[in-house]
Amino acid sequence: MNISNTTIRLALIPVEREIMKKPVEYAVAINKNGKQRGFIGNESHVDTKPRWYKIFFPNDKTLTHNHPKAKKNTLSLSLNDMFHGIEQGFQEVRALSEDGYCALVEIPKMGIFKKFKLLNKLKEYDKNLSKGQEETEKEAIKRIGNSLKMTIDQKVEEIVRLIDSYTAKNLRNVRKILEKEGFKFRTIKLP
Ligand SMILES: [Zn+2]
Repeated sequence: MNISNTTIRLALIPVEREIMKKPVEYAVAINKNGKQRGFIGNESHVDTKPRWYKIFFPNDKTLTHNHPKAKKNTLSLSLNDMFHGIEQGFQEVRALSEDGYCALVEIPKMGIFKKFKLLNKLKEYDKNLSKGQEETEKEAIKRIGNSLKMTIDQKVEEIVRLIDSYTAKNLRNVRKILEKEGFKFRTIKLP
């Protein structure tokens, strides 16, 4: 491990402790000297284009942010997290659950050609994912909408669960594609 990575690891500890439980999304980018730049989102991680991602600083190496309400078992990097990590040239993107876990991806250095190829692939995946989520929802409503055994709350909960599990399955596929390109994913307990 080189010095700048150690500096980043140390800088992350207090930052992530502070933001992991925030009810809205906070993101902090850290450069190789441990300098921090913070961005406040005003929506949850379902927001498809958080404004703070637009700001690009070439020396910022690691981007961390919280996923409000996420727990260890529901925590995962979103397609957008991966997309923006690649687009903005981060070495590592981290998402935090409120119970102190971190899902992270290490992004390999890549040339511009490979970068665009991957970004296009992810865009394609994103389109299909939205389509699939809509279809999953439609089908679920058709199937359980008229059920007399379930309350409306139970129906909503079940539909959300089905969409989430569809999404998780597809994100696993995206991760597999990226792993073949040298990306490394893991979930860790925060120190
Ligand atoms: Zn995220």
